[in-house]
Amino acid sequence: MARRPLVAANWKMNGLKASIAELEKIIAGARALATVDLVVCPPATLIAGFAAKAKGTPVAIGGQDCHAEAAGAYTGDISAEMLRDVGAVAVIVGHSERRRYHGETDATVRAKALAARRAGLLAIICIGETRAERDAGHTRDVLRTQLDGSLPDECESIAIAYEPVWAIGTGLTPTCDDVGNTHAFIRARLSSRFAETGRNTRILYGGSVKPGNAKDLLRVEDVDGALVGGASLNAEEFLAIAGVYRNR
Ligand code: PEP
Repeated sequence: MARRPLVAANWKMNGLKASIAELEKIIAGARALATVDLVVCPPATLIAGFAAKAKGTPVAIGGQDCHAEAAGAYTGDISAEMLRDVGAVAVIVGHSERRRYHGETDATVRAKALAARRAGLLAIICIGETRAERDAGHTRDVLRTQLDGSLPDECESIAIAYEPVWAIGTGLTPTCDDVGNTHAFIRARLSSRFAETGRNTRILYGGSVKPGNAKDLLRVEDVDGALVGGASLNAEEFLAIAGVYRNR
């Protein structure tokens, strides 16, 4: 069975109330993109408003992070249940910026992925190697460790985002051959760990995806979509990237 592509927008710490105009453009364009799932993940302050605006449209709304607990004394944090409560259907967990700036370990990421599942959200679990790890030839070891440590014991309602850290926001990307080899490696790990369901888990590529390179990167075997940062802040660019899957 072919996996339905998923293109997700990670707005990071960008966007004010007025940014809903960009979401409206995405919604308008999404009506012509019936073959691809679109998720927009704005900052937490905008999730409720975006979810209300996107209700009943082909665009889904997600969070960029969640706490592992459902509620409690965790100042500043937001739970998966809270995201669900305001209309989110997905959440990014383990983004390299969370791992780097907030010290998130694979165990933390796994706990967050489990929380997402508990709340009925799709968890988009990010993995990826740094430049130094890649240069040292450790990419597969790093990904193996991250996959083993970050994934829950069942893989329903998860997607993996392979995001080489050195490609995020830099304009650099791996070659299509590299992406294909890495995604095949991730697919093999998923299939050996989860048998049948591992074949249905979507593996997204993320890292400097732009309209100009999306056609090549997103058509690589075992690439089931993209997690898009910078380019997703512009509706036309985001839609042009997702448009790669228009005639699938
Ligand atoms: C990201 O941060 O998830 C990302 C892919 O960013 P960018 O597209 O800007 O490289």
